[in-house]
Amino acid sequence: MKPDSDELLIICLPVSRGNPGGFDDNVYGPCADCGVEIQWRPHAPAGRHVCMNCAARTIEKEGITGSITMTPEIVEEIRRHIALEKATKKGGVG
Ligand SMILES: [Zn+2]
Repeated sequence: MKPDSDELLIICLPVSRGNPGGFDDNVYGPCADCGVEIQWRPHAPAGRHVCMNCAARTIEKEGITGSITMTPEIVEEIRRHIALEKATKKGGVG
């Protein structure tokens, strides 16, 4: 079934076992398409929260029919998180 083209497609990160997520206040819920557990930031806009696999499948099958988002705030938070992780791992392999 084709999703409502007005619905915002929000690409979310999966929740992996033993690694619940980078942020303590992440919101957890099922992927709207396949039901796998995913996570998103509490300030993410309302819309269809999907895992990356489903997002890729949807885009491949239907093209970009509506809007897809990662808010600048989310991007900035992820950038900070990655920078922090890199700083933490300094001195390790690589
Ligand atoms: Zn999915």
